Amino acid sequence: MCGIVGYIGHREAYPIVLKGLKRLEYRGYDSTGVAIIQDGDLQVHKKKGKVVELEEAVVGKNMHSTICIGHTRWATHGEPSDRNAHPHLSNNGRLAMLHNGIIENYAQIKQELTNKGYTFKSDTDTEVLLNFIQDIQDNNKSTLEEALRIALKRIVGAYCILLIDQDDPETIIAARKGSPLVIGIGKGEHFLASDASPIIEYTKEVLGNEKQTPFIQKLDMELAAIEKGGYEHFMLKEIFEQPDTIFDCLRGRLLHEQQQIVMAGVDNHIEALTKASRILIVACGTSWHAGLVAEYMIEELCRIPVEVEYASEFRYRNPVIHAGDVIIAISQSGETADTLVALESAKEKGAFIFGVVNAVGSSIARLSHAGAYTHAGPEIGVASTKAFTGQLAVLTMMALKMAKAKGSISDERYSHLVNELASVPKKVKEILADTSKIESIAQQYKGASDFLYLGRGYNFPIALEGALKLKEITYIHAEGYPAAEMKHGPIALVDENLPVVFVATKDMYYDKVVSNIQEIKARKGQVIAVATLGDTVLPTMSDNIMFVPDIDEVIAPLLSVIPLQLLSYYVGTYKGIDVDKPRNLAKSVTVE
Ligand code: GLU
Repeated sequence: MCGIVGYIGHREAYPIVLKGLKRLEYRGYDSTGVAIIQDGDLQVHKKKGKVVELEEAVVGKNMHSTICIGHTRWATHGEPSDRNAHPHLSNNGRLAMLHNGIIENYAQIKQELTNKGYTFKSDTDTEVLLNFIQDIQDNNKSTLEEALRIALKRIVGAYCILLIDQDDPETIIAARKGSPLVIGIGKGEHFLASDASPIIEYTKEVLGNEKQTPFIQKLDMELAAIEKGGYEHFMLKEIFEQPDTIFDCLRGRLLHEQQQIVMAGVDNHIEALTKASRILIVACGTSWHAGLVAEYMIEELCRIPVEVEYASEFRYRNPVIHAGDVIIAISQSGETADTLVALESAKEKGAFIFGVVNAVGSSIARLSHAGAYTHAGPEIGVASTKAFTGQLAVLTMMALKMAKAKGSISDERYSHLVNELASVPKKVKEILADTSKIESIAQQYKGASDFLYLGRGYNFPIALEGALKLKEITYIHAEGYPAAEMKHGPIALVDENLPVVFVATKDMYYDKVVSNIQEIKARKGQVIAVATLGDTVLPTMSDNIMFVPDIDEVIAPLLSVIPLQLLSYYVGTYKGIDVDKPRNLAKSVTVE
């Protein structure tokens, strides 16, 4: 997790690092720190809280330096506090280091170092690794780089670290394993960061570090993509970008007039995909919900059995994988630690890995045999919105393409669904054209302590996603359930204080969902329905309604999720929560 930025060159380093940290704050924001070297003097400034709090704390201080490393933390070992913030200093005071990830065997090494007389100012695993490096350097009289290499051989876990030595203001040493790092190359200067956003302003040349031999590649990212552009929050901007991001995702792939879908990753491996005896979808969080929608689509359209797995469970339970099994991995960042490791072992066992990833060039994208990018652009808000609809768009095209190749879909249904999918950007725009009703519903229910979200069929995963979004950014407890399953427990919660959100668009389950709504109303629950425009029945039995345009049920999730994103956004902002950086969360979950 956490954001890392480093600069070394001829410019003032601290302002560059500070600006970069603000861009990376979505990755972690419980404390911030920087280290600089001034005339052989190593200075560390760190502070609990967001980046601006550090910025304010160093106002008036001399921050002049051409070398700086900075960190915004997402605590794993030790509470968020000034002393646990990175960078850490070695016992001899000469080395400063920051770290993203977890050193799993830190406790044993800490014991050994304590026995040798080392002391620790923080509770972090990071400070242990740093002193371990110092200890090796002192004992072996080796260079810092050699000492680091030796130390890392002992380390179990994931890391990206930046390390500097007060006696060498010309060098930042970086090492990574399982955590991301981009190195930007300027003229007589270098930039290091957890993703490309702090770098693109200065250079588009970055070092690819696939395999052993580094090579220079060009970054394809524009600055505007990572700025708020007049919106109050990144999340709102990203919700409103969806007509464009979905359009971009379909562009050049869904050839509406020719009734064709072109996806090189699918085309080149169509045999592997359509002949698979089963498909496993591996993901976490919101991506897992996209996976559930894909399960319904692929089973219905392609008649291939699908299992959707939480990556964290899948990786540890020694799953049965046969050569030829297809695994679809879904991840916004492409760095999700659990998903990544799950894929590595499945790949070893001979599975074919197809990645559905947003971040271009990310670890999962590189590890996959084939894949399709969601092309949603950088997603900064912690709660996923446009990346989710991008995932749904990719997975829908993929399912349609596979069904067509397999002959498991009629020409008529295929062409109907292609047309429906092509209409999504316009229909999302229609939903976004007037959000006043959703705002007033949010106002009405912002004081609720619990919410229930219910849906059936394709809308069941959307109920889960709606509940997750609400939890993430409003801190209101919410549960998603299949609407019928509600009778097996959650109905006990229903009283006049419980808002129940029904995702009840017109589909084959509609009548059944209407019955479920009656069951809630009979117990005085507050019903908020997501309904199809023109529905005259639901308004008579719901307390509040959010309409979405009519669309085929296979594509419906792409529309029905939009009002739920907005509902959570408005509840969160009415409650005064920083929805882009809700407490305890981080954007890219690179620890397990
Ligand atoms: N494990 C380290 C800590 O708890 C680094 C966490 C991070 O990646 O931010 O401080």
